[in-house]
Amino acid sequence: MKELPVKSISEIDNVKTRLFGMNEQQIMELLTQFDEPKFRGQQILEWLYARNANSFGVMSNIAKSLQEKLATHTQIGREDFLSCSESPDGTKKYLYPAGTGRFIETAYIPDDERATLCLSTQAGCKMGCLFCATARQGFQGNLDAGRIVNQYASLPQAERGSITNLVYMGMGEPMDNIEAVLQSLAIFTHKHYMNLSAHRITVSTIGVLPGLERFVLESKANLAISLHSPYDEERRHLMPIQQVYPIADIIEFLAKTSWSGSRRLSFEYIMFQGVNDSLSHAKELVRLLNKLSCRVNLIHYHHVDGNTLTGSPYPVMEQFQLLLKEKGIMTTIRRSRGEDIQAACGLLSTREMLAIQTPDSSTSQSSDY
Ligand code: SF4
Repeated sequence: MKELPVKSISEIDNVKTRLFGMNEQQIMELLTQFDEPKFRGQQILEWLYARNANSFGVMSNIAKSLQEKLATHTQIGREDFLSCSESPDGTKKYLYPAGTGRFIETAYIPDDERATLCLSTQAGCKMGCLFCATARQGFQGNLDAGRIVNQYASLPQAERGSITNLVYMGMGEPMDNIEAVLQSLAIFTHKHYMNLSAHRITVSTIGVLPGLERFVLESKANLAISLHSPYDEERRHLMPIQQVYPIADIIEFLAKTSWSGSRRLSFEYIMFQGVNDSLSHAKELVRLLNKLSCRVNLIHYHHVDGNTLTGSPYPVMEQFQLLLKEKGIMTTIRRSRGEDIQAACGLLSTREMLAIQTPDSSTSQSSDY
């Protein structure tokens, strides 16, 4: 049976072409249609990404006639967040539109000198991990590069200016939307656009091998693999992807790549009480990872309705950490943040939000011209 290509949400939207998220090739194709010189493309992209333009009128080095054409046929495509909830620990969760009737969440996590922004790559997710709130809402579509970058670009200035790290760990599986993820990474790191360091960006995956292969070749960002169990059968129960791309194959592939230098490889390990938190799990984990230069992040689980899993107590996590450290694996325990506003790891879900009626959730912020 022939699979139909999954459409990105902006392809489904019945609105003017959104420029935000375009790369050089895409904007040049558009300018060719307008019978305009291609070099204008670079200028327009710099206005969008480096100079934060939110209207064509401010693009002072673009001829008025081209500004008018752009305003008639396209829109900037930046989108304001719809709501923000804040935890007493400073964590904030932003709700963004993602096309008509669809929403995504973005978590802002300040921590002393650092502030991390956790980006979504899909509305919902089709991977069906047992422990995950996003899985329970099903899959509504891929985000295009513009809607990934917009989660950072349209934050309030105070938050955006404080961000030191970006993580692709929100809703969705990044390697299942690899084209848009790579394009967003290129916009974030291009020296004439947002100029963020790739070493401060981490993309997380449960191990979708074809996307992962492209990511390793075509980007310089850090990689985090969601592992959660070193045992095949148990991992399959927690994460159906194990059936398609076993973790052993993922590790074999990663072992062929160099992870020395500034590009980092880490493994995320959510700890479920009485499921994957025994010392034999820790020993098996050491065996599995022994060929890799990597670190392990142990994560406290936040219960979501619909399963019987609970988080391991912190003393159990500390024992687990100790064994890994003794075997030479750098291991940290992630502090829990934003649980009260459902912004903590595995809790992002807009299921409840889908019923929200907004006047037009797909319009861009303010006027484009
Ligand atoms: S853990 Fe990640 S990949 Fe698995 S269902 Fe949730 S969002 Fe999708």
